[in-house]
Amino acid sequence: MKTFRRKILKLLGYSYLSIVLLPYNFLYSSTKKIINPNLSKEQKDIMFNEGTERPYQSALNYEKRKGFFHCANCDAKLFASTSKFDSGTGWPSFTESLPGAFKTKIDYSFGMKRIEYHCSNCGVHHGHVFDDGPGSTGKRFCNNGLCLIFKPES
Ligand SMILES: [Zn+2]
Repeated sequence: MKTFRRKILKLLGYSYLSIVLLPYNFLYSSTKKIINPNLSKEQKDIMFNEGTERPYQSALNYEKRKGFFHCANCDAKLFASTSKFDSGTGWPSFTESLPGAFKTKIDYSFGMKRIEYHCSNCGVHHGHVFDDGPGSTGKRFCNNGLCLIFKPES
């Protein structure tokens, strides 16, 4: 009888939890959509599972031309080349994003408190923003290169 009651409680507990989490999961997943059907496995891992590419992998670290950095999933304009700087971290870094380009949330993974940011338009993860940037904003947007597409000014 005791184990039976425990089973019922367990079942109730689980269903209660799924009812509580359902709207969250629904809302969360509904804002993140694959728009670019040609995304690679690595790109999807970063964008949809908040992964991080290994440092010094992206050719965009060395991109110095004038232009704009767009979301590799939805093509939204995210950064102007004028805000890019060499942070020495091995990831493309920016002092500021274009207005409204991103939304942020607090990320507690790996035992750290960091500010994660994601594309306002399609919801995919791009990177983390820190308060040790060199510009007047004091911000350092540390972006996965695989999430960005650079379009030079023509
Ligand atoms: Zn996007």
